[in-house]
Amino acid sequence: FTATRSPSVGLFTTFDRNYSSTSSNLITATLFPGDGIGPEIAESVKQVFNAAEVPIEWEEHFVGTEVDPRTQSFLTWESLESVRRNKVGLKGPMATPIGKGHRSLNLTLRKELNLYANVRPCYSLPGYKTRYDDVNLVTIRENTEGEYSGLEHQVVRGVVESLKIITRQASLRVAEYAFYYAKTHGRDRVSAVHKANIMQKTDGLFLKCCREVAEKYPEIKYEEVVIDNCCMMLVKNPTLFDVLVMPNLYGDIISDLCAGLIGGLGLTPSLNIGEGGIALAEAVHGSAPDIAGKNLANPTALLLSAVSMLHHLDLNEQADKIQDAILKTIAEGKYRTGDLGGTSTTTEFTKAIIDHL
Ligand code: NAD
Repeated sequence: FTATRSPSVGLFTTFDRNYSSTSSNLITATLFPGDGIGPEIAESVKQVFNAAEVPIEWEEHFVGTEVDPRTQSFLTWESLESVRRNKVGLKGPMATPIGKGHRSLNLTLRKELNLYANVRPCYSLPGYKTRYDDVNLVTIRENTEGEYSGLEHQVVRGVVESLKIITRQASLRVAEYAFYYAKTHGRDRVSAVHKANIMQKTDGLFLKCCREVAEKYPEIKYEEVVIDNCCMMLVKNPTLFDVLVMPNLYGDIISDLCAGLIGGLGLTPSLNIGEGGIALAEAVHGSAPDIAGKNLANPTALLLSAVSMLHHLDLNEQADKIQDAILKTIAEGKYRTGDLGGTSTTTEFTKAIIDHL
């Protein structure tokens, strides 16, 4: 069996490397097990990393029980400092209670650590049949502003206002990353996804920045596609796309749509790229409260996120070994979790991956 090495998972770009390491030459990485299914799938990653003898030492941080005034969220200042110090980490999903009046944990992380690009590769897994068997695209989501700026208020009773912020600086930065990613990963097209026909100022500025950056990369084909049309085209023929770059909210939605093309949220990884070489890997999915604590979650998305973290650290041998074991386990079909039509528990599936290392 030879697992197809997806070009889209490995080799995330690092501009600045200077990671913490211990006297035993282990690299220290921050780990947030997160909420809901988070601790179960984080345990799976720890077991697989141990079995694969990955030279990483985890510095675990848990979501606090009270709002930390320094972060205005349940995320503690110490945990943010841990990522700043280590520059690399893995994050489980974190639940966001609706309408509770404090900052979302995910937004806090993204803003405080300046995680400006969220890279979400999505590719068909060999041996796992869905409607398409040749999906291979990457969504690059602007991660710090747009509709997720957290600026919402009541104007008068019965009327609320939410501000969508688009800046030239953040748009240029994510567009630059998208083109650079395409160039360094052998991809030949970047599509900017927008709704500039309606959001003329905000998405208009986003597009203007993408066009500016595109001029610097004449070898990469650049195109623009309106978000609604993009959804239709993705569902009809996902091979039309290669690298997609877009403002925050569109990236959140499109990447779940893409996950649906290849078998669901249990499979799609991501890597957040921040200023100063910070990289924080996380699955695309949330805390899945409906299956939390039942040993039913698919750890693949978090495991592949952890693999992307290893590629980022140039630990390519261990990364490839783990990725091959995951893909082989899924392709064989004997052990699969419920979301993929199987009957295995998280623990059984994890053990099968370890047996394939
Ligand atoms: P979700 O992604 O948690 O779940 C959507 C569906 O997918 C559920 O049916 C769930 O069971 C299934 N699913 C997700 N991950 C799975 C896995 N690994 N294995 C098997 N099935 C899986 O989305 P939601 O229910 O809308 O959100 C739940 C909570 O997670 C909310 O509080 C939301 O704010 C939060 N959330 C966090 C993140 C993050 O931390 N980055 C991302 C999305 C949602």
